[in-house]
Amino acid sequence: MNIKGIKENIEDIIASIPSHVTLVAVSKTKPVTDILEAYSCGQRVFGENKIQEMVAKYEELPKDIQWHMIGHLQRNKVKYMAHFVDLIHGVDSLKTLQEINKQAKKHNRVIKCLLQAKIAAEDTKFGLSFSEISEILASSEIKELENIAIVGLMGMATFTDNQQQLEKEFSYLKTFFDKLLTQYPKIKTLSMGMSGDYQLAIKKGSNMIRVGSSIFGVRNYIA
Ligand SMILES: *Cc1c(COP(=O)(O)O)cnc(C)c1O
Repeated sequence: MNIKGIKENIEDIIASIPSHVTLVAVSKTKPVTDILEAYSCGQRVFGENKIQEMVAKYEELPKDIQWHMIGHLQRNKVKYMAHFVDLIHGVDSLKTLQEINKQAKKHNRVIKCLLQAKIAAEDTKFGLSFSEISEILASSEIKELENIAIVGLMGMATFTDNQQQLEKEFSYLKTFFDKLLTQYPKIKTLSMGMSGDYQLAIKKGSNMIRVGSSIFGVRNYIA
C-alpha cells in the first residue's frame, strides 16, 4: 500500500518530469473511484490493458478522458473500443492495423497507433523487430489505411534492476526512433518507461510514460 494518496503521487510525478512528457496513468485493475481521484487533480490520460475493462470504465466516467490501450491486442475485440479509444500502444502486426482501420472507418474516425518494438531480452514480451517496423511503414498496404495514424513507437524494457541493461534498451529504441523521424515526420511519440524506470526512460528520450503502481499503489494481481 502507498502511504501517500493518489493526488500526492500524481503531483509528485508531474513536478518531476519535463512538460513535454505525457503521463499516462495506468489504471488497470483499479476502481473508478481511484480514477476519479486522479481526474480531480487534472489527470486526463488513462491507460488500460484489457478492452472490456476499459469499455466499462469509459461508459461510467467523464467523456473528456483520453483512453489509451496499452495491452496486447486481441484483434476480435478492437470493435468494442473503436468509437472512443484515443491511442493504441501495443500494435505488433499489419493485420492488427488493418482491423483497427476497418473498425475506425465504421465510426468515421482516425485512430492513433504506436508500433510496439521488441527491446527486452526476455522472450515473453511482444513486439516487432526494427526491420519488421521498417517493412510495415514502407509497405504498400499501409498507404491504403486512411483511418489509422501511426504516430510513434512503444517499448517495454526487460524487468530488471540492472540500470545498464535498461539504459542500453532505451537508447537502442531511441536511436531507431530518431532515424524513423527523419523519414516519417508523423512518428513523434516514444512511449517508454513505467513506475520503476520512467526517470531513466525520460533521460534516454521518452516523451510518454505509462505509470501505474507509483500512482495507484500496488495491484492485487498481475495484469
Ligand atoms: C501495467 C503496465 C504499465 C504500468 O506498470 P507499473 O509498473 O505499475 O507502472 C505500463 N505499461 C504496460 C504495457 C503495462 O501493462
